[in-house]
Amino acid sequence: MTQAERLSRREMLRAKIAEHEAALAALRAEEAKLLEDCEHSYGDGRHAGAGAQVKICAICGRLLRARDDKLWG
Ligand SMILES: [Zn+2]
Repeated sequence: MTQAERLSRREMLRAKIAEHEAALAALRAEEAKLLEDCEHSYGDGRHAGAGAQVKICAICGRLLRARDDKLWG
């Protein structure tokens, strides 16, 4: 294996690693979201999240992520 081949192989592996890391981050974010989301809603069907910047469930008091929060990156 030449040095040039090593370097191009390394680039390939790095790209693969980055791909897998992104996939892992997405899976972890999904896992965290599953555990953290709360399904409470008011009688009229609106979600019970109250607040502007930081949403907190009015029923269980759980901290909810803002919908547009980036989960990673
Ligand atoms: Zn709740």
